[in-house]
Amino acid sequence: MNYNINSIRSDFPILEQKIAGKPLIYLDNGATTQKPKQVIDSISKFYSEINGNIHRGVHQLSQFSTDAYEEARQKVRDFINAKSETEVIFTRGTTESINLIAHSFGRRYIHRDDEIIISEMEHHSNIVPWQMLCEQVGAKLRVIPFDKNGELCMDDFRNMLSNKTKLVAITHISNSLGTVNPIREVIDLAHKAGAAILIDGAQAVQHTTVDVSELNCDFYVFSGHKMYAPTGIGVLYGKKSWLDEMPPYQGGGDMIDTVTFKKTTYAELPLKFEAGTTNYVGAMALGKAIDYIQHIGIENIETYEKKLFKYAAEQLSLIPDLRIIGNAKNKSGVISFLVGDIHHYDTGMLLDKMGIAVRTGNHCTQPLMTKIGITGTVRASFALYNTQDEIDKLCSAIERVKQFFS
Ligand code: PMP
Repeated sequence: MNYNINSIRSDFPILEQKIAGKPLIYLDNGATTQKPKQVIDSISKFYSEINGNIHRGVHQLSQFSTDAYEEARQKVRDFINAKSETEVIFTRGTTESINLIAHSFGRRYIHRDDEIIISEMEHHSNIVPWQMLCEQVGAKLRVIPFDKNGELCMDDFRNMLSNKTKLVAITHISNSLGTVNPIREVIDLAHKAGAAILIDGAQAVQHTTVDVSELNCDFYVFSGHKMYAPTGIGVLYGKKSWLDEMPPYQGGGDMIDTVTFKKTTYAELPLKFEAGTTNYVGAMALGKAIDYIQHIGIENIETYEKKLFKYAAEQLSLIPDLRIIGNAKNKSGVISFLVGDIHHYDTGMLLDKMGIAVRTGNHCTQPLMTKIGITGTVRASFALYNTQDEIDKLCSAIERVKQFFS
């Protein structure tokens, strides 16, 4: 495999930074990834040469911008292998995509005494919108537990499914445990029960090939900023058959066909779900991030990161008193841990003093932490530019943290 890590690293200007006088070791990629200069420069070029509001103008800049926006949609479509570009809706990110589904799909198809199934390892953004919906329509939220290794209890899931189940919403990869869920099986089981299925891909699309047509999920959502694109742009993939039937989420410009004071008719997909001026520059830059990933090759990234992940898990588990939280057989992207009885926040603060950026806390998965009986973890999360050398430095730094507290 031709994976030129030095060349890749040189694409990311921020990695040259020093933090606390030490070379930055950025291991907070689960929260957000850094951006390659190809993405950063594309934004500057766009505003310097191309910018005009999309879809509304006859003038050339508006046309150029519209073309760039729609070209980005095609790139997303190809990246996840959607059947049609009309199945790709641009949103602010995973959170907005889930809220859109909760408002639009939820209000139309979920009624009193219906059930929505999520899991104990969901991010708050795949819990709270469903709780809000359940309160509004009188539906019930059911929660699949995970076992001591951090794997979904599939038997419990099977038993929960019934003709009351209208939607199953599950994360592809857990942002706190790193568990890769058996989503194919989850999708098939949900469909057999007659339920729709939403996959939260926020921690997956940057690490592994996602083919929504093959998966046959009804909805798949993700955020640009976790896959080398800017903040404020994300994707809702939805099957056309659902999106056609679902009512709009927000009203405003661009999402209409005709407006009179008596009645408004709505635009066709995908614009029906894109009210107002969208983040079209962000969408264009997401397209550039996809180009960047495709240029390296998502399979090459996956192979490289798997090796790196295995190395990190092995090295961290050699540290006495370090407890890895989440021991699923199939893990990716993030390793959560605690060091002795040192508070996760203290570990994170001291690592920061050594130039190492990790995340501490509950990672927006409070119910997961409550179940394990902890308040949070230290989380190292990886991206295509991390190296074994950085992991060695992380391990030595953890030893220093231990010495400090001993
Ligand atoms: N789901 C998962 C699994 C996540 O990791 C995150 C981000 N931490 C989100 C949802 C929310 O993503 P965003 O804040 O970009 O909307």
